[in-house]
Amino acid sequence: MSVVPSHRKAKGLADAQRRPAKELCSECGLCDTYYIHYVKEACAFITQHIDELETQSHGRSRDLDNEQELYFGVHQEMIAARKTEPIEGAQWTGIVSTLAIEMLEKGLVEGVVCVQSSKDDRFKPQPIIARTRDEILAARVNKPTLSPNLSILEQIEQSGIKRLLAIGVGCQIQALRTVEKELGLEKLYVLGTPCTDNVTRSGLQKFLDTTSRSPETVVHYEFMQDFNVHFKHSDGSTEQVPFFGLNTKELKDVFAPSCMTCFDYTNALADIVVGYMGATYGWQWIVVRNETGKEMLELIKDQLQTQPVISSGDRRAAVQQGISAYDNAMTIPIWLAWIISFVVNKVGPKGLEYGRFSIDSHFVRNFLYVRRNYPKKLEAHVPEFAKRIIAQYQLPKH
Ligand code: FAD
Repeated sequence: MSVVPSHRKAKGLADAQRRPAKELCSECGLCDTYYIHYVKEACAFITQHIDELETQSHGRSRDLDNEQELYFGVHQEMIAARKTEPIEGAQWTGIVSTLAIEMLEKGLVEGVVCVQSSKDDRFKPQPIIARTRDEILAARVNKPTLSPNLSILEQIEQSGIKRLLAIGVGCQIQALRTVEKELGLEKLYVLGTPCTDNVTRSGLQKFLDTTSRSPETVVHYEFMQDFNVHFKHSDGSTEQVPFFGLNTKELKDVFAPSCMTCFDYTNALADIVVGYMGATYGWQWIVVRNETGKEMLELIKDQLQTQPVISSGDRRAAVQQGISAYDNAMTIPIWLAWIISFVVNKVGPKGLEYGRFSIDSHFVRNFLYVRRNYPKKLEAHVPEFAKRIIAQYQLPKH
């Protein structure tokens, strides 16, 4: 007699029902399925156990005494890369989509968890299990909102898929790694992207309305290493707004509370991570965490131009100044912001040092947010690596 796994007796929550993580829910999709059974351990905002999951995923947790690992997590290799022939309409050059297509077409996996846009709203995420090149390509480009990628977990079990690639951001991947053994898979490959400052769909509208000259025509945006937000519009035109000119007062509450309490910016549990924050402008940044990630990168190396990662500048003074500016929620005139952006870009941190600048700034901001809003969670919720990074700075007393 076969035993029915206990999670199958659970039932996913309806859309309107409050999630167990309450306002900290990042809408990763787990609670839409019967895997809600595992939510207490799986939800990144209820139980923080990155070091344990690092050991499960990579055979060891990060070496806290090695600065590269302290910041970027367990890894074998980091490189800068771009597609020799970029994919039109991808977020950057389309390395993520290319890798997914190769893995599917070379038979390493039978399906790919990725996220397309819903038909009625280009920014509303629609998670799917892609089984063709075209379905993967239709998922290219970021949906810059919280996305319930794991809402397809029940479909995986029902589909009979045994070899799967999942693409996702840190909170989705933490939950996925926690329930990985319950999915009945022979092999799970995980392709992660870094992620920070995500928003709900209504938060996204507020951000676009307060920041872009033409919110209704934005098709794509990114917070870039040149300290500007780059918008692309449907007519092909581009727009740049310096970070320092963002209306921080208006936008103070725009980011999702889950993102304000997240310390997994670099997606610690993926086999391979593809972002941009550790590379110079125009290049993507690839972090190979383990042997599985290495196997994945090999598949597409002949389609990439690569170069070593570089690191220059010194982020520390800028991070320390940013702490008080953030605390006061100041805005400065746009013309002054342009000048600062120009100066910072000439002398500012580059490559891995930009990555550290961004990690430091976000970790300090998030630490203050957790300390003020969830003081009882602080000790257990902030991972040891983040505590060490934050300890380099002087923080306000309250
Ligand atoms: P593409 O080939 O265009 O593929 C993009 C893939 O992302 C698709 O497969 C799609 O399924 C997946 N995806 C899209 N939206 C989401 C979503 N909301 N949740 C989960 N998966 C999604 N990189 C940094 O270095 N620093 C950052 O701060 C940073 N923030 C990010 C925030 C978000 C919300 C996302 C989704 C990504 C972020 N990235 C960040 C990663 C970066 O923007 C690119 O996604 C990455 O470099 C891959 O580019 P590409 O051209 O290879 O991707």
